[in-house]
Amino acid sequence: MALGEFELIRRYFAAPELAFAHADVVAGVGDDGAILTLPPGFQLVMSIDTLNESIHFPANADPFLLAQRCLLVNLSDLAAMGAQPVAFILAISLPSANETWLAAFSRGLAKIAQAHRCPLIGGDTTRGPLSITIQAHGKVPAGNALLRSGASAGDVVYVTGDLGDAAAALWWLLDDARLNRSALDARDIDALQQAFYQPDARINVGIALRGLASAALDISDGLASDLQHILAASAYPALGAVIEADALPLSDTFRRCIPVTEQAALALSGGDDYELCVTVPVAKENAAIAALKGLGVRFTRIGYIDEGEGIRIQTSSGQQHPLSLTGYNHFSDSRQV
Ligand code: ADP
Ligand code: MG
Repeated sequence: MALGEFELIRRYFAAPELAFAHADVVAGVGDDGAILTLPPGFQLVMSIDTLNESIHFPANADPFLLAQRCLLVNLSDLAAMGAQPVAFILAISLPSANETWLAAFSRGLAKIAQAHRCPLIGGDTTRGPLSITIQAHGKVPAGNALLRSGASAGDVVYVTGDLGDAAAALWWLLDDARLNRSALDARDIDALQQAFYQPDARINVGIALRGLASAALDISDGLASDLQHILAASAYPALGAVIEADALPLSDTFRRCIPVTEQAALALSGGDDYELCVTVPVAKENAAIAALKGLGVRFTRIGYIDEGEGIRIQTSSGQQHPLSLTGYNHFSDSRQV
């Protein structure tokens, strides 16, 4: 690299906007390892994600936006655990030391790092195809983390935000013919771009739901697939879930640009939403709703856990259909715009 490795790190990864001080960070960028000291009574929560060019994001993605997505998807995992972000480390493989790209990438990271008070404290920089790995560290009062494994029959299922916007955004980014492009104005396109590159990490929601949600995860592979993880982790004797197709929260942009017959399927199967899906015991439902008041986050009840088999979709007529990839069309007709 024309720009030396150490100078590159100093300029773009040790910048004070990004590698700022934090009460729990004893040593950050610059030594062989970083050091954290958590306050007494807290547990460390760690999560890591790799994003590869052309697999997890389009080639030539805007580095300012891409950086935000890379950090936010990791913070979303901390949110799903009910953890407060502390700091993150970054392993990046770069095809070249392009300073324009690095400056924008560093600014994007700093924007999210500052918003969540979560500084960069170390990493590794190598040459190779563009690949970005971030490990985020968070803290949670001991024993209070939200796990996937606590759901019981009778619990209600809630999701934050809207579902399917990131999948719609991917249709837009990849020029999918099914997207009704003519229905989109500049504001819609902004909203889609934001859904993909700047998903909200629902940190405050996760923290507010400590002690109230019985199980939680963030939706990265699509609600249908991710809810299965809660069922599998919680399963004894065996748990299923009923999801009401008409209750799925959909944005106005989504309703306008996705064909009615595809909406429920895309909201259920589309990945990358990074909204939280949580189960709540009925006895704690009102407390959970109250705890989220004032956070400005849509919190929608979409169904319930039972002892039936797998996930079933309930249409407006009350009929239930087993969820399967081929089954989507059975219920998509129930949606009205
Ligand atoms: P070592 O050879 O001891 O592994 P490196 O030369 O890889 O150290 O890194 C030097 C310092 O710069 C370390 O503190 C490391 O954490 C930090 N660093 C390297 N790359 C990054 C990066 N992409 N982001 C943040 N810190 C980095
Ligand atoms: Mg070393």
